[in-house]
Amino acid sequence: MHPPTLRTVGSFCARRSYQIRKCSSGAAYVEKVKLLDYWKLQDSALQSEFPRSRLLLMVDKRVLVQKVDGDIKMIENGVSELRKKLGDYGLIFDQSHSCLLDAVPGPQNDLIPLFGTSIDAAEMPDDSPISKTDILGELGGSLGGKFTSLRTAMLAMNDERQRLLLAKFQSLSRWSSIYRRCPKCAAALKMRVSKSGAECVTCQRVYYPTLSPVAITIVTDESNENCLLVRHRGSANGVFTVVAGFAHTGESLAECARREIAEEVGIFAHLVQQLNMSQPWPMPDSSMMVAHRAVADRNQEVVVCPDELETAQWFSRDQVRKALETTVADPFLKGLPRTLDDRQRLHYIPPRGAIAHAIIRDWVQGKF
Ligand SMILES: [Zn+2]
Repeated sequence: MHPPTLRTVGSFCARRSYQIRKCSSGAAYVEKVKLLDYWKLQDSALQSEFPRSRLLLMVDKRVLVQKVDGDIKMIENGVSELRKKLGDYGLIFDQSHSCLLDAVPGPQNDLIPLFGTSIDAAEMPDDSPISKTDILGELGGSLGGKFTSLRTAMLAMNDERQRLLLAKFQSLSRWSSIYRRCPKCAAALKMRVSKSGAECVTCQRVYYPTLSPVAITIVTDESNENCLLVRHRGSANGVFTVVAGFAHTGESLAECARREIAEEVGIFAHLVQQLNMSQPWPMPDSSMMVAHRAVADRNQEVVVCPDELETAQWFSRDQVRKALETTVADPFLKGLPRTLDDRQRLHYIPPRGAIAHAIIRDWVQGKF
């Protein structure tokens, strides 16, 4: 990250009336990126923009969403309207609870910040006649939506921009809340208003949000007509997915994919290729999932790692296509099998918001 030049800073300071429509979409994109870079570094400039910002909201790590045309979308509010509505429920927030997510068109045809604000609600007294869940339900209703778990929102969202914003929101909120002291000298860190970095007050080192790379891999046989899918312990009944695991230090993503296949299902993949797909995933920590395809001899014995997996099986393209169709027709997985017998059969793949869904879909459709 480079600080903006004096010329750039001057142009931003002078141009509160930045005219979006006068730029081509490419030029508008470049301007937006430069503005975001400036806001990330310049605390006072971003602070002064805060009152006219738009905000996405999480309370108790549940995100405020609404359903729009069968999709899930986060709800944006202005600072003053959100302050008033949250105030009615005794909830307060400021910049310290907020991280910079994007720049969006403002009322004067200029760009204003989009923040994600994450607060915790106090526990209700034991003798309270109303539960916290009821209160959050009411608050969500007054804001035009409802609070839902991060996982549900990430998996159900169809729009990639929304998923990326939510991943950034959760990752920056979490990182800025736990990254408090300098790893080198243990002095306090001063967090930027944007939450895009933190500087040690003593040794002046700057730290940035952490990200863990993950290889996520579909294993096929040599004919490319069958693939190996796995069921994780504790996953929803009848849901199978692809193999995934964190990269170790000193390992390429291809090596990571090959090792994870050996560890999780006990077979050797003689070919590993990266696919042109990736997805940030913010739970439990901030990951970057990078898609791969691996080819393995189907005659090898599958031996699952019992700590992680319940089962792993080869399926034909038709079997996987059927599960894909079931999942597309029932994106919230309402028809999951309930019997113990049925749960180890392939009924569903992960929902549309997961990169695993896109990998499996593309394989079914013969795209690789
Ligand atoms: Zn330090």
